[in-house]
Amino acid sequence: MLQEKIEQIKKDFSIEISNINNDKQLEELRVKYFSKNGLVASLFILLKDANKDEKPQLGKVLNTLRSELQNQFNIVREQVSKSESSKNINVDLSLPGLERNVGSKHILTQTLDEIKSIFKGMGFSVFEGPELESDYNNFEALNFPPDHPARDMQDTFFISDEFVLRTHTSPVQIRLMKEQKPPVRAIMPGRVYRNEAVSSRSYCMFHQVEGLYVDTDVTFAELKGTLASFAKQFYGNNLKFRFRPSFFPFTEPSAEMDITCFICNGAGCKICKHTGWLEILGCGMVDPNVFDNVNYDNEKYTGYAFGMGIERIAMLKYGIKDIRVFFENDYRFLKQF
Ligand SMILES: [Zn+2]
Repeated sequence: MLQEKIEQIKKDFSIEISNINNDKQLEELRVKYFSKNGLVASLFILLKDANKDEKPQLGKVLNTLRSELQNQFNIVREQVSKSESSKNINVDLSLPGLERNVGSKHILTQTLDEIKSIFKGMGFSVFEGPELESDYNNFEALNFPPDHPARDMQDTFFISDEFVLRTHTSPVQIRLMKEQKPPVRAIMPGRVYRNEAVSSRSYCMFHQVEGLYVDTDVTFAELKGTLASFAKQFYGNNLKFRFRPSFFPFTEPSAEMDITCFICNGAGCKICKHTGWLEILGCGMVDPNVFDNVNYDNEKYTGYAFGMGIERIAMLKYGIKDIRVFFENDYRFLKQF
């Protein structure tokens, strides 16, 4: 009985080991035959029940079997390990390497970094506020009273009667002035939201940078000088610019700054609507009512504020015609910058 089993296992083992090709199969074979609950061990358990006279003889046979199988196993293991390591050496070293794509900053981040660095060079710090803003900070404190028609200038996402997704970065001015006494000089970058139809020229979400400088004797001339210096550093020294009167509820007087259209160099083209000029930002002297709302003495202090769309000035700088490409994550667009 036991003798038969021994012969069977011997036969099976020799067939199975001749089919071994890799480490995994080798390990499976080792577990099947040589582990604690393996086939060889099971034979030794059967030995206990064997006839007393036969036991010594059978014990000998079993020991021989075990060392025979173990020897065969060791030989095959050596062969497998040799062929596995030779597989690793079998590499074509002349093949070109794999190209790894290196990430880079998004063009809007690069543009904002450049704006920050220019204004930091002129003594501005950076201050940020939340995107979910109170109606009061977004409108009322900025001199947009309820029912004021100027509110219609900005289509608003209302979250509740009290809260909105901020429509501009101007409410951060209010937060800054409530937190700090003059002088304050900071830029305030961030994301803003407008409930507008999405097109090549407008998007429901975009980025702005707001600027604010409040101190005694701040003049409109300083505002013009600061913005001219910014525009020249950002777009190039040969740039021509002009200021045009405009209207914003929170500044008085208000202006918009234009730069020479660099597509047509001022001659007039489709992009500049044949005016030769491109608007890049809005600005003005802070309205005294705004100072009242943050408890600044409007007899003592004057200040200026300005705001620009980051997408817009990047579009003008790089000749990008559609605002939607900034948010589509198309690698073909992004990798150009
Ligand atoms: Zn033009």
